[in-house]
Amino acid sequence: MTRVAPLVPAESDLLCEFCGYTLNGLPDGANCPECGVPVTASLGQKRAPPVWESASSGGKLSSLGAFVKESLFIIFRPTAFFKTVTTRGDVARAARFGHVHWLLASILFGTAGWMHAGVFYMSGLWTARTFSHAIGALLLTMIAYLGLWWTTWAAVRLTAWEAAYRGFRLPLPVVSRGMYYHAAHYLPVAIATFVTVAGYCLLLRLRVFGPDTLTEYLYVLCAEVVAAAAYLFHTYWIGMRNMMYANR
Ligand SMILES: [Zn+2]
Repeated sequence: MTRVAPLVPAESDLLCEFCGYTLNGLPDGANCPECGVPVTASLGQKRAPPVWESASSGGKLSSLGAFVKESLFIIFRPTAFFKTVTTRGDVARAARFGHVHWLLASILFGTAGWMHAGVFYMSGLWTARTFSHAIGALLLTMIAYLGLWWTTWAAVRLTAWEAAYRGFRLPLPVVSRGMYYHAAHYLPVAIATFVTVAGYCLLLRLRVFGPDTLTEYLYVLCAEVVAAAAYLFHTYWIGMRNMMYANR
């Protein structure tokens, strides 16, 4: 079977933000011939660079404020963020945002992993013995950080490749910049994991839970892994879907 590859629109093409139709040459007062939304709605006036990128000149304190503000916006209103953010912009600045989030999440994952290993210390498993030491927490943090970095690297390339294959305009810099902001979504996952593990360890120590609850604890962790994967894929998709027809 032969396949006619759909053509990826050029960077200079004006796309309808709502259906992806090419609007080149239409007057500003016209409507999209495909979905009927006014052409003016696709000109990108609604998109602005994230506060995080414009705060770079204001010193450390305003950078911290912008980081917190941007993170809350992305976590609580992902659709609004990806609908109003410029898709072409400072990738290096976005990378710094992403790396800080990977590091924050990794510290929480690393600490949770270290406590989790402590719960199973008596089992004699080599993983439990290795990672229940302080150096284990550091090691797990590093593994988590490199893991997040590598996973994102692979996801960026796969996304750009598949988008090009399907004829969507999602070049590498756009996808990677989007993924650096998507990194904020690791924070709720890392907090949930940390609270579960730390809470369970505390309740074990207080003897509220006995060792007979280990299986239930592992079930809860497994359920969290599944929920986290679904949440991260859902928010990733919100990002890509709201960036693939963007003109700015
Ligand atoms: Zn349209």
